[in-house]
Amino acid sequence: MEESNIKRIDFVTWRHRKSSLWEGLLDFLFPQHCVVCGHYVPEGGFPLCNSCLERVKLLGDSICSVCGRPLDSTQSRICRYCRHKSFSFACARSVALYETPLKECIHAFKYRGITTLLPFLGNLMLEYLERNPFLRKVDGIVAVPLHRSRLRERGFNQSLLLARYVAEGFNLPVLSGVRRVKSTLPQVGLSHKEREKNLKNAFCVVRPHDLVDKEILIVDDVFTSGATVESLARTLLKAGSKRVMVLTCATSSLT
Ligand SMILES: [Zn+2]
Ligand SMILES: [Zn+2]
Repeated sequence: MEESNIKRIDFVTWRHRKSSLWEGLLDFLFPQHCVVCGHYVPEGGFPLCNSCLERVKLLGDSICSVCGRPLDSTQSRICRYCRHKSFSFACARSVALYETPLKECIHAFKYRGITTLLPFLGNLMLEYLERNPFLRKVDGIVAVPLHRSRLRERGFNQSLLLARYVAEGFNLPVLSGVRRVKSTLPQVGLSHKEREKNLKNAFCVVRPHDLVDKEILIVDDVFTSGATVESLARTLLKAGSKRVMVLTCATSSLT
């Protein structure tokens, strides 16, 4: 991928300075460490140290207009993957590449339950929406629901936490008219066809009037094959939603 397609985080926009003696004392008593490399992070810069933060690869404009993955110089507006496929969602966008160190952050958030990472990940998404207003011209936000058994196991739904954070930032409602009815296998290690099969009829609509005629933004943590958000978008459209777009924190690049 071309270097020009990757932006660096302007971390001044979300990293705040210590404002009081009290915060200074807290930092002395409970020093904070970078979630990725473990280095001490001074000046209230949790969760990432400066050198890890600078390695987060934000996506620029040279992306597929359908799935939002970065394009290389040989591709036009649509990536080779989307050229042979049709999706239920109008478009998907991601803030950054699903690579080190963002990958470790999302893992820590999702699987180690470090929910103090929420402001960091949520602010990345808010900044993206600030720069891309078309994505926030919607009637509401929908999180990817977790199945009851997975929710019990994890204790929280990372997608819902992100959805609430984003919704609050732009004063949008979180619509909860859809539920996950099928306890799907983990997607990791499955082929694209298997992923699609795994997710078939995974969601069901419980409150259709919340979704009818609505333009919706699905918010999730990672876009990999797109099979999960595709299945959810299809369910929403079937329930009468007008249009569905997707925003995720990170996306894998095309292999
Ligand atoms: Zn670090
Ligand atoms: Zn694409």
